[in-house]
Order: sequence, then C-alpha cells, then structure tokens
Amino acid sequence: MNKSKIYDCLVVGCGMAGTTIARELAERAGKKVLILEMRDHIGGNAYDFMNENGVFVHRFGPHIFHTDSKRVFDYLSRFTQWRNYSHEVVGDIHGKLLPIPFNLNSLHLTFESCKARRLEQKLIDIYGFGSKVPILDLRRQPDAELAEVADFVYNNIFLHYTQKQWGLSPDEIDSLVTARVPVYISYDNRYFQDTYQGIPAQSYTSLFERILKHPNIELHLNSEARRRLRLESGKVFFDGCPFNGTVIYTGPADELFDCQYGRLPYRTLDFIFETHNITWYQPKGTVNYPVDREYTRITEFKHLTGQALDGRTTIVKEYPRSYTGADNETPYYPIQNQQNITLYERYRKLTDELPQFHLLGRLAEYKYYNMDGIVKKALELADTLIK
Ligand code: FAD
Ligand code: UDP
Repeated sequence: MNKSKIYDCLVVGCGMAGTTIARELAERAGKKVLILEMRDHIGGNAYDFMNENGVFVHRFGPHIFHTDSKRVFDYLSRFTQWRNYSHEVVGDIHGKLLPIPFNLNSLHLTFESCKARRLEQKLIDIYGFGSKVPILDLRRQPDAELAEVADFVYNNIFLHYTQKQWGLSPDEIDSLVTARVPVYISYDNRYFQDTYQGIPAQSYTSLFERILKHPNIELHLNSEARRRLRLESGKVFFDGCPFNGTVIYTGPADELFDCQYGRLPYRTLDFIFETHNITWYQPKGTVNYPVDREYTRITEFKHLTGQALDGRTTIVKEYPRSYTGADNETPYYPIQNQQNITLYERYRKLTDELPQFHLLGRLAEYKYYNMDGIVKKALELADTLIK
C-alpha cells in the first residue's frame, strides 16, 4: 500500500514546534498527521523524566516556561496546570553570590554602601527605575563612575561566561544574545519578568503526551526522517512514494540538504549529572560560574520541580563546546551572525521550490527561540495553513 496516501501532513521532530503544529493541524483542520522523531522520546529538548535515583530532571538542561503571550499561555494551559515558579539565578563571583541579571541588589553587594547609593541614583536618573540596560549599552555611557559598574559587570558576569558558552567574547556575538540578560535597574531578583511563568505541574513530558493525544496524530519514535524522506526536483518522496501533502520540518536546515554548502555552526553542550546524598546542593535553581570553572552553570532540579525529597538531590553541570555534527552530538544553540545567517538563507531558499514544505523551530529557522516563541510561531503557521 502507498503509505504516503494515509497522511495529509508529515511533521519531522516531536519537540515544542512539531508537537504544537501537529495538534493544530490534526484538531483544527482535521488532518491526518504523522510525526517522525529520531529520538526514543517525545518533547525534544524540553523532555524531562525521573532518573534512576528517584529525582525528577530535565534531560537537556533547565527549562523554565515564561511568556508575555496570553495566547501561548492559554494554549498550553489546555494541556497542563502550572507550578508557580519564578526562576532565580546567582553568579558565583570568586565565592560571592550575586543576583543575575545584575540588579540593584547586586550593586549593593558589590560596592560599599555610600558609593552604591550614589551609583543607584545615577542609574535611576539616566535610565529610569525598572529599566533594563544591555551590558553593551551600559559600556557606552560616558559617566566615569558608571563606567566602573559597566566594567565590573562586563568582566565579572559576561566576559568569561560568554567565552565559555560561545567560544567568543560578548563583542563578537550578536548583541541580542547578551541583551537577554540585561542589567536590571530594580530590586527584582527573578531571572524573567514575563506575565506568565512556571513549570508544568506534572512534567513537560506529560504536557507533550497530552498535546499528542489526538486520534488524527500518529507518532513514530526512533525514526530518522532523512531515511524516509527524499527531496528531488521540487518533489517530496516519503518511503519511496511521491508525497503531496504538507511537510513541517523542525530539524536542522543544513542536514536536510546533506550540508551541501557546509555545516551551519552550532554550539552544543555536555550535560554532566551528579546525584548527591544531601537534601539541597545550592541556594537557588541555577548558580552561574562567570569567572572560573569549565562549566557555565549548575542547576539543581528540585528547586524547579518542587519535588519533596529528603537526603538526595540531582544537579547538572553544562559544558559548552562546538558542534561538529558527530552522531552522538546535539546542536543546541545557533550561532547567529551575518555570515551564518547568509548560509542559512541559502539552505532555506532550497525549500522554496518544494510546495507545502515549511521550516519551523529553533533548528529549522536557525533562531535563538525560547519555548514560548516556538509555540507562538507554530500557532501562527497553523493559522496560515488552515486559512
Ligand atoms: P527541539 O526541541 O530541538 O526539537 C526538535 C526535534 O526534532 C528533536 O526532538 C530532534 O530529535 C528532532 N529531529 C531533528 N532532526 C530530525 C530528523 N532528521 N528526523 C527525525 N527527527 C528529527 N526555552 C525556554 O523557554 N525556557 C528555558 O528555560 C529554556 N532553557 C533551555 C536550556 C537549554 C540548555 C537549551 C538548549 C534550550 C533551552 N530553551 C529554553 C529553549 C528550548 O529548548 C527551545 O526553544 C525548544 O525546545 C525548541 O523546540 P523545537 O521543537 O524547535 O526544537
Ligand atoms: N550571560 C553571561 N553571563 C551570565 C548569564 C548570561 O555572560 O551569567 C550571557 C551569555 O552570553 C549567554 C547569554 O548571556 O549565552 C544569554 O544567557 P541566557 O541565560 O539567556 O542563556 P540560555 O539560558 O539560553 O543558555
């Protein structure tokens, strides 16, 4: 039987992007959707599970949901309740813990009180209370005393962390990357200020299971799409037969075309998990290491998940490095700069000749999306396709 005729849509990848678009097409448009996922689990990088020590962990690093989009929050809230959680991060600066983003509390912990009060007033006068100032902007302001603050923050919060994370200095990467963690003229120690924030009450994986639970959705795990999809002369072939339906691809755009113009650069991470026989390892969900260590940050999951467990806790350390494309590596962070975006555009253009073929998601669009950005984009793509 020509299996390609059973399905109206093929979705490659079962992360936030693939899951959301599959549900929308299945539910709102009544389409028969097949999802191909090469891993042995759903959820992409937001996958979580109970480890062998009975501690609930996020397999691919800490995932905290946050958004200002009511549409996105309402959409996901159909499938999950939320644990009210506001993420807080501190930076270990030679043993002293400072709130990150660097804020007025951090300022008072860094400078002696009289000076700190003066600096605080200057920051408020120039930028306004509650404003967020990217470090690269703060470094450009002329006041000599504020230049000292900017230098402190740049050298102690951004320089080494960014070199570890990206292999580049803050001036060499897209300024939007460091602007994600601006200097915050406020006493608010939360990492995010979005209207809606939290962690799925049960788990991310249960959230994904519920989104996927629809009679029009079929899922094949352990299914590498490149073995089943062939793109040739403007046509899509699935399992050897022409496929005329819609294809949503959420994997890396270069791999779709055998990296024929060269690999798109990504950063990958090694996640090193440790379980300790103590109740708490550190005071906050995440501690960043911006001045020393080879890893960038340590996350202790019980802070995020709220799991009550005495005498045991699991942490993860993140070690960044270049992605080489080796089989056991995962591309996590697109390295956005003009050269790489131009290369990405060449790959994207190759999909123009394929009717009903759409690139969606952090990898396929080569964009540094948070989860909410992906859900928003998937809902908007569904709006367009269903219209
Ligand atoms: P992915 O989750 O990468 O899913 C893509 C899926 O496609 C994967 O499952 C992959 O296996 C599959 N796939 C790829 N190629 C193929 C193929 N050829 N065949 C079959 N399957 C294929 N966002 C937040 O909002 N808050 C956070 O706190 C947060 N923390 C993060 C921490 C880390 C360390 C990282 C790396 C990311 C974090 N993010 C966070 C971002 C978040 O992970 C992404 O926005 C989101 O997971 C992207 O979803 P996606 O579906 O586009 O991609
Ligand atoms: N950053 C930094 N020091 C920090 C926190 C962040 O230099 O203590 C920079 C670094 O370049 C990082 C970027 O800000 O890659 C964005 O940080 P974010 O926490 O948003 O990164 P993610 O959680 O996506 O890894």
